[in-house]
Amino acid sequence: MEKLKRKRRVRIDRVLILVGGCLLALLLVVGAITALFKLINPTLIAKEYSKPALEIKLEDEKIDSEVFTKKNKETGEKYIYAIHLPVLEGEAETLMNTFVEGIKAENAAVTHIDFASNTAFSQYKSYVITATTYSDIEDKNPFNPIKTEELYINFDSEELIDIEDCLRGKAISNLAKKYESDKENVRLVNIQENGVEVNVNGTKVFYTYNENNTDFVMNNENVPSILKYEKIDVEKREIDPSKPMIAFTFDDGPSPANTKKILDALAKVGGRATFFELGYLMENYPDTVRAITEQGSEVANHSYDHDWLTQKSVEAAVEDIQSVNDIFFSLTGNEINLVRPPYGDYNSSLAQAFSEKIVMWDVDTRDWESRDVDSIISMTKKYAYDGAIVLFHDIYSTTATAAVELIKYYDSLGYQFVTVSELYEVKGK
Ligand SMILES: [Zn+2]
Repeated sequence: MEKLKRKRRVRIDRVLILVGGCLLALLLVVGAITALFKLINPTLIAKEYSKPALEIKLEDEKIDSEVFTKKNKETGEKYIYAIHLPVLEGEAETLMNTFVEGIKAENAAVTHIDFASNTAFSQYKSYVITATTYSDIEDKNPFNPIKTEELYINFDSEELIDIEDCLRGKAISNLAKKYESDKENVRLVNIQENGVEVNVNGTKVFYTYNENNTDFVMNNENVPSILKYEKIDVEKREIDPSKPMIAFTFDDGPSPANTKKILDALAKVGGRATFFELGYLMENYPDTVRAITEQGSEVANHSYDHDWLTQKSVEAAVEDIQSVNDIFFSLTGNEINLVRPPYGDYNSSLAQAFSEKIVMWDVDTRDWESRDVDSIISMTKKYAYDGAIVLFHDIYSTTATAAVELIKYYDSLGYQFVTVSELYEVKGK
């Protein structure tokens, strides 16, 4: 018994000494590691970011890499920069440099800029340039970012492109609405072979190419599009607000022979007008719709087949109007911004539901009633004025004949023939 007791006591003493020694050694080691870490930490961080993440780059990519340290002479603070950028040219290069300079100017302890790139269908090239800044180098968690910002640069072959080159205006508006943001906050992230990635106010949304989707505007056989003809580029013109102007509008067409006669007369005086057309006639006369757009005049929406829109449900009315927009887009690659409900028949719920502006008229020539050239001319001259929207119907040959005369007449008075959209822009509507 005695022997055993003594033995146990001795063991406890030894254990205590051992534990104490270990604790002391541990403290020393921790202290040494911390000191060492503080000393080599900047080097470690620089090394961590010294190489670009190669697996996300295009194979033939040229990369501009630089890793350097900058010291603030006054405070003695050290800034580490590890920057890896694609080699770009022209406008894209300027865009990228502005972004990079902005990040550098923030003077974060560590600035790491890297990028991902990809190509789709050998046509589109996308770059996502990510800049991450970190706080104090000697912080316990130096790799914890304080801020991450991204820049998106997309090309269609050699041309810089944006969200409008991928998605139709209605899709962009719908996205903005869905995320309670503005159209300006919807940005194109990158184009892939199964869809496009979009950033809406910070939220990334992936749009898969879907055969039934009428949203895409991309010019590639692998991407579904309802655009069946070559896109028409309409040149925007300057309107002189100090000169008189008039907006002729023609409803119920297109009507090939009459519409052409009016377009020719407008072209002679460098004028434009607005044609509120019916969807089913646009389908019947695609060449006339394209001719209007090519002349610079505006095509607007007068519903698919002249129904009373308030007698439909709001959803059905919106669908009716949207179907005409889709037809126009499929023929020209352009969008419709204005709608004139047939018979001027609409109410506040329709006005709220339509994304297009509703356009009525200031002067009714009653051409559909008289169908008489002289009467149409005299009605117009009697009531029209500077800044007026005048209502005609180009389905009547008498209207076309009268319009030709009226275009000559108002041109001789120094009037500018403007579209309704141009008129609204000048008047700030
Ligand atoms: Zn009508």
